[in-house]
Amino acid sequence: MLPDDLLVELLPREPPQYAGRQVEASTAGEYLLGAWTQVIRGALEERARYDDQFARDVRRAVFVGIGVFRAPWRSDGFNGPFRVVHGYQFGVALLSAHRPEPRTEIGAFGEPIRQMETEFRWHGSPPDEGRIAAYFEDGGDLFGVTARHVVDGLPAGRRAPVSCEHGTGTTMVRGGGPYVDAATVRLGCTVRPLRATGGSRSARAGEQVCHHFDSGLCTTKIVELQSTTQFRSAVMPQHFLTDDHGHPADSGALVSSAVNGDMCGIYLGECTARDPDGSLATYGFGLDLPQALDVLGITSPLAGATHA
Ligand SMILES: [Zn+2]
Repeated sequence: MLPDDLLVELLPREPPQYAGRQVEASTAGEYLLGAWTQVIRGALEERARYDDQFARDVRRAVFVGIGVFRAPWRSDGFNGPFRVVHGYQFGVALLSAHRPEPRTEIGAFGEPIRQMETEFRWHGSPPDEGRIAAYFEDGGDLFGVTARHVVDGLPAGRRAPVSCEHGTGTTMVRGGGPYVDAATVRLGCTVRPLRATGGSRSARAGEQVCHHFDSGLCTTKIVELQSTTQFRSAVMPQHFLTDDHGHPADSGALVSSAVNGDMCGIYLGECTARDPDGSLATYGFGLDLPQALDVLGITSPLAGATHA
């Protein structure tokens, strides 16, 4: 997580509508972050029902994030309920592929809602290779999970531009459909047995995670999570942003908890967001691993970024 005392500084006291509701947290800062995220999500959904302009802004957004993000353009102590501390601030970001009308408005609880023009760059397009986030066995064969854009357009059985740590190649099995950027590949490798590691779960806003890049582990933190709606289906991909990003050929890399190794996501690429005042911030972005496994129909125990 972000340091707990920083979260406590960034977030006002418990939101007024929140008494008695459940939030998974082990510290005061984590609790405030979880509680405020849920309250702001509810406020945004409510507003989209009566405010047509806002509903259109949300429809046009590639990513709707609620969380703690970088705020380098403001000095510490922003005069509102959600303060800027050490260059971070809690709020809402609408990342759009087009050039939105630049604006930061203040929401129902004093939270900043920022419209940002954003350029997304995937890190696994040809001729780059991709990486394998997790391995599993099925019927005596070895499989891997990667980003779909690495293997886009390949028919089942065709050689895929992904290999394991032994350099053994893969063939395409299936993709996660048009919206969820995940795919399954089959490995020719025969190294056995597979050591199943921990389970998978969704990342939490503010938590410390590791990117398993080819160049080594990159420790970073989750800065924003896509707001989730009540129904989560294969047409609603769940994404997150991280403070650091990788490079071409890193797509498909595992994103795991830096604390206990829980597997949380699949790295997809980087995005550069332009703030209303013109400042730029580059983030990594990834896909929720539990959703990828659901959409791909994977129920076997997973091994992490290595199968040796
Ligand atoms: Zn291998």
